Amino acid sequence: MTKKLFRFLPLYTVAAGIVCCILRGILFGAKDEKGLLSLTHPANVPLILLSVIALILLGLYGIFAPKKDFRFWLSFPLQDVGCLAAAIAHFTWFLDAPEAEMPLFLYTKLIVSVLFLVLAVYRRLSRKAPLLIPALLSLGMMLLCFSQYRQWGEHTQVLEYLFPAFSALFIALYSLEYCYMELPERNYKKTFLLNQAALFCTLVCFDGDPYSFLICVWLVSGLFASTYRMVLPEDVQYCMHKLEQAGFTVHAVGGCVRDAMLGQIPHDYDLCTNATPEQICTVFSDHRLIRNGEKHGTIGVVRGHTVYEITTYRTEGGYADNRHPDSVTFVDRIEEDLARRDFTVNAMAFHPKNGYIDPFGGEKDLCNGVLRAVGDPESRFREDALRILRGMRFACRFRLTPEHKTLQAMETLSPLMENLAAERVFSELTQTLCHIEGDDLLIYRKLLLQVIPELQESVDFQQNNPHHAYDVFTHTAYVVAAADKDPALRWAALLHDVGKPQTYTRDETGIGHFYGHAKESALLAQQILQRLKAPTELREQVLFLIEHHVDNLSANKVLLRKKLSKYGCDNLRKLILLQLADQSGKGTPMHGFDRTCEKMMALLEQLEKEEGRLQIRDLAIDGHDLMKLGFEAGPALGQCQKQLLELVLSGETPNEKDALLQKAKELLNN
Ligand code: ATP
Ligand code: MG
Repeated sequence: MTKKLFRFLPLYTVAAGIVCCILRGILFGAKDEKGLLSLTHPANVPLILLSVIALILLGLYGIFAPKKDFRFWLSFPLQDVGCLAAAIAHFTWFLDAPEAEMPLFLYTKLIVSVLFLVLAVYRRLSRKAPLLIPALLSLGMMLLCFSQYRQWGEHTQVLEYLFPAFSALFIALYSLEYCYMELPERNYKKTFLLNQAALFCTLVCFDGDPYSFLICVWLVSGLFASTYRMVLPEDVQYCMHKLEQAGFTVHAVGGCVRDAMLGQIPHDYDLCTNATPEQICTVFSDHRLIRNGEKHGTIGVVRGHTVYEITTYRTEGGYADNRHPDSVTFVDRIEEDLARRDFTVNAMAFHPKNGYIDPFGGEKDLCNGVLRAVGDPESRFREDALRILRGMRFACRFRLTPEHKTLQAMETLSPLMENLAAERVFSELTQTLCHIEGDDLLIYRKLLLQVIPELQESVDFQQNNPHHAYDVFTHTAYVVAAADKDPALRWAALLHDVGKPQTYTRDETGIGHFYGHAKESALLAQQILQRLKAPTELREQVLFLIEHHVDNLSANKVLLRKKLSKYGCDNLRKLILLQLADQSGKGTPMHGFDRTCEKMMALLEQLEKEEGRLQIRDLAIDGHDLMKLGFEAGPALGQCQKQLLELVLSGETPNEKDALLQKAKELLNN
């Protein structure tokens, strides 16, 4: 009962707004006498009290909102700030007065605005909700409060009473429609019309009042708010509907629920049902099916170009190899299925009619930025050691902090990762690397060292060099975080100095040097990437980048043209980015290297657009032309081609047939 009461709070607030507005009409009518508009006038006290109570209730709602109804909870920032603004708007219409006579009210509004702003920023930082819009609202509110100073105007009766009343009514209907309609059946047209009607009325009676302005902003923003909510794609709804028609229960589950809660668009949707694989196949017998996961309960249903994975609710038993369940048992209830999942944020399900099912508090953890294993962390990681790496990946990807016991179990049980297939480790690690920011690698050092023990020596390895403020591992961690989020670049950043400890020397002044460390690192990286079964193409690019990460590059067109010819555009671009990241991870001044890199990137872009990568085969003359001149097929001819390319690259000779033939003749005669 109390839950229900709280659910409808914003509507009460809007209703309070309407009452305020009507009362204002009844009480004051045309007699806008100064005395009546005073905050302390007895006629105003009940209305002021009403608004204050509405504000307090709203605050309480924010604290105790029924978390299970996430659809509603998510719309909190939009709906409630809007409703609150609406309430205050009606309150201000009521208190409408020349500013000079009501400084107290002006300041009150200012304070409310600032409080809103602080709240919005706090909630944004603590990731309690998607709050960009309230933040903007608050900013707008604050700015407008200032700008409205001394701008109160006269109104006609209709504008003062009739339109605000309609505006509030439409806002109420719109909120109702928006918050409480079943999602799949939500009638967007109706929502849109109500929104527009409310907007229209608010605009008609808009008199420059900041809060009416905010209502307009809120109403407009409401039209774009659907990404905060879980709206299932038509094909997913179709699959769910079909299973339900056949008498089964079905839920969207896992990553898609988590992503939708975060306001992100899920990249795929997994469905879960109490239908057995055979029953799923029967229900979708008119579709192309992918049955290679059938043993584990998963059937892929192909619709268009997309495969929708539908899995039977299941539990798992026994994990002798720390990775795969020895047995899979199909069960009836979604809750049992959720219990086998790895982390609370991944163990939520959604049904368009019944809302969210979240038995382990995934939503709360997501809101508080916490990564927590479902159940006992130790046993969960013992069952499947891949979850340790998945945990690190999710923590980095969603900026979650592992809860104490979860992190402890991840670290203690990290040796179990030895049993994992190299490809899985590589894939998890690559994804994780692409999400790394700030100190992440320092936080997860222990886990990383478990899978790449070659980095162990870098830990606390002091460089004793004026160009470096950090030990080798700390430097590496910062370089990874600074590098562009590209798999090859991130791997290169991770391993670019892995060979440093082996090459360490100290000169007579005590300064440390690492001569030849790029080569040594590339050798070690080769072993590491081979062990992890990295794809050849990526491995080659990583090795190239590591080997060349100490190359002398400068913002010189001829030099860059030569490098471009030698390395190719993609390699050269990544090399520049790696050098930039390397430099910025040293903890010492950049001495303008960042600007040099910017210039190099601009030059590279220009070169690529104007002439592309020039190679021997792009020369205006070929081997036949040279042989006609008298060259014999063999090394001398190749050498001549190389020299001609050099001349073209350095700009000494144009890439034209006559000029090149002339040069070739000279070379032949020398
Ligand atoms: P992504 O966006 O990376 O696909 P995801 O959460 O969807 O994230 P998947 O690997 O697609 O990750 O897995 C789907 C769901 O299956 C997860 O959300 C989780 O609930 C469950 N899951 C996957 N792998 C494991 C595992 N090793 N142990 C327990 N549960 C798992
Ligand atoms: Mg997924």
